[in-house]
This record gives sequence, structure tokens and C-alpha cells, in this order.
Amino acid sequence: MALIVQKFGGTSVANQERIRSVAQRVAETYDQDNDLVVVVSAMSGVTDRLIQMAKEAMENPDRRELDVLLATGEQTTASLLALTLRGMGYPTRSLLGYQADVVTDRSYGNARIIEIGARRIQALLRERNIVVVAGFQGHDLNGDITTLGRGGSDTSAVAIASAIRADICEIYTDVDGIYTADPNVCPRARKLKEISYDEMLNMASLGAKVLQIRSVGFAKKYNIPVHVRSSFSREEGTMVISEHEGMESVAVSAVSHDKDQARITLKKVPDQPGIAAKIFGPIADSGIVVDMIIQNTRAGGQTDLTFTVPKADFKRALQIQKEVAQAIGAEDVFGDPDIAKVSVIGVGMRNHSGVAAIMFNTLAKERINIMMISTSEIRISCVVEEKYTELAVQVLHTAFGLDREEEAG
Ligand code: ASP
Ligand code: MG
Repeated sequence: MALIVQKFGGTSVANQERIRSVAQRVAETYDQDNDLVVVVSAMSGVTDRLIQMAKEAMENPDRRELDVLLATGEQTTASLLALTLRGMGYPTRSLLGYQADVVTDRSYGNARIIEIGARRIQALLRERNIVVVAGFQGHDLNGDITTLGRGGSDTSAVAIASAIRADICEIYTDVDGIYTADPNVCPRARKLKEISYDEMLNMASLGAKVLQIRSVGFAKKYNIPVHVRSSFSREEGTMVISEHEGMESVAVSAVSHDKDQARITLKKVPDQPGIAAKIFGPIADSGIVVDMIIQNTRAGGQTDLTFTVPKADFKRALQIQKEVAQAIGAEDVFGDPDIAKVSVIGVGMRNHSGVAAIMFNTLAKERINIMMISTSEIRISCVVEEKYTELAVQVLHTAFGLDREEEAG
């Protein structure tokens, strides 16, 4: 007997028929004598539609009121699943975010969970109820409804799992696990049996497509094993767990890519104290997140400085830098939105040498130019021209021995 949190995403509860098959799965787990909390998303497409409706009502929707509206998506599915289970004869209760005591800060639309007072959930569990909780929502200290950002029901599930000290959090979704690369880009990508929290946190877009990254931070902090798996099959998915020794036997576990990047370069910047602050201060003030930064020194007390920002912020960042360049006396500013970041990730990198060399050689063989490089303890990233993204991912995937065996026949 175990204490299990199961989370079902939007496609898994997209209509009544699918809610019924979710209910069957839940019932099966319950019948195996497990204690069970089920967290649900809104039906797929509903959150988008609600946002659209809000925009029709008010051009730039008031954020508090928007959250009141968005929370209804998950309220609907929580109730429908509870009704279905009760109809099948199972003792079940649904709870909204505030009833489950999910306390957040006040950042409507992107609130962070402060704590979960799991008393009510635990009381219901003690009476052998199946507890269904509406994901994605909480309340602030004023009692106002908040939502946790897109994809936030993953974080609801992991946070609830940590609050009730669940043995495992199962995330049921429309993919069957985490892959060594995006299968749409790299046909030879393999499903991973397991991956560490830190690798997952470093996989950026590859991981973020499957789990809200914030949920992985929670899982790591409270050491909750997360099983990412498909709600449409019985196959095992991928376990996201804390690192263990066996994981270090391979140097690279995954290759990820991120096309959502743009590059800005300031040419011939005076090489003086305070200049970097003048360049990045206004960017930070306007809420733009800088990812990579490179500074190269040239002769004559001047340097070139290059950094990347999300594509959506490119025009704004470029405009800001044009003004900064004038103010600090830089020669020129130019930008390039057609870039991509390709990364290799693996905890094994710590004890395998030469990973960077293999990466650079592999790209060189394909004549792919590396524009920027950044590294962390378990990741190496290169910025390349966007049109080489697919090629770069594929050749790196092969070079690090990640390719799936060709299926016979
Ligand atoms: N329904 C919300 C969304 O679409 C939350 C979630 O599905 O995790 O983003
Ligand atoms: Mg999701």
C-alpha cells in the first residue's frame, strides 16, 4: 500500500469519455489498496478559450478577475471526475485550490506556492476517500483566487505530493515519457528510463514541454519521485528522481535545443568598470531575461559584448541597447533572431573528460559554426545558426551514443 498522487493533464480529461477512462485507472489504483489524491487540469483548450473570452470582455484583462475565470476550467474537471467516480460507487470528494489550502503569493496568473496546509486532504484520505484536487489554482493570504502559470497543475501535483509526503507523484500526459532529444527533430531519440532532477532542470525546452519546470524544483527539494507517463497506455514512462551513481556511467543523457533565442551584439564598448551594469540594468528593469553573455576583449581598451534574450523580447531589447550604445559610446549594435541554442546534458559529465571537445568536433565536421558557448557543471550549450538546429541535434545525438537501435524488419 502506497500514498500516491496522480495528475492528469488536459488531453487526458479532454471529454467525458476520457474522464471515464481516467476514473477507471484511478479506481484500479484505489482497489490495489493505495491512498490516492488525483490532481486534474482543465480540459485541453479550455484555458486558452477562457483567456480569449476575458480579452473580449476587457482588452487587457484585470489579473485578479482573470484568475477567477481561469480557475473554472479545473473546477469543471475536478467535479466531473469526482461525479464519475461516485457514480462508479467510489467514496470520492473534490477540492478546489482554496479548500485544499494551497496558499500562494499574490502574483495573479503566475503565483508561487508558499505552503499547502494538507489537513483537509489528509482527513479525507483517512476515511479512505479518493481526493480529487483542482490543479493550477490556489489562494493568496487575502483569500483571493490565484493561478500558477501555464502548465501549473504539474506544480500543484508535486507540491501536494510533498505536503502529504506521498511515495510518488505520477504525471499522466499525452507523451509517454522524457526522450533523449525531441523526437520531432531527432527520429532516433529514445525514451529515458530515468533522469535526475538536475538534468531535467537543465533540459530547458526539452523538459519544459512535458513538465512545468517549477514542479521539478519542488520535486527535487522534497525528494519526490515523479513518474512521467502516458494516460493512453500501460507502458512505464520516465522516472524523474534524485541522482544516483549508476547515472554517471554515460557522459551525456540528452541533447536539447531551444529556438526561442535571439542574439544582440554591442561592438567596441569602452572597457571600463560599470559598463556591464549600464548595459544590463535597463534590460533587467524591463523584465527581459538574459540567458548567455559573452565578452571578448580587443585591443585599444574596447570590448565586444554579445548576449541572448528570448525571441519575443528581441525587438524591445534591441531598441533599449540602441539607446544604451549611444549613452556609453559603443560603436554599433546589431542583432540576429535566427539562432538556436543546442545543449548536451548529463550528470556523467562531471567524471567524463572531453565532452566539450567531442561536441565541438562533431559540429565542426558538419561545418556548423559555433557563435557562443556556455557551460555549467552538467551542461554544455552552443549557439548556432537556426537553420542548423536539426542537424546539430542529430549529429550530437549520434556522437554521444544516444541513438536508438534500428528496429528489425
Ligand atoms: N489548465 C492550465 C493550462 O492550460 C494548467 C495546466 O493545464 O496545467 O495551462
Ligand atoms: Mg501540462
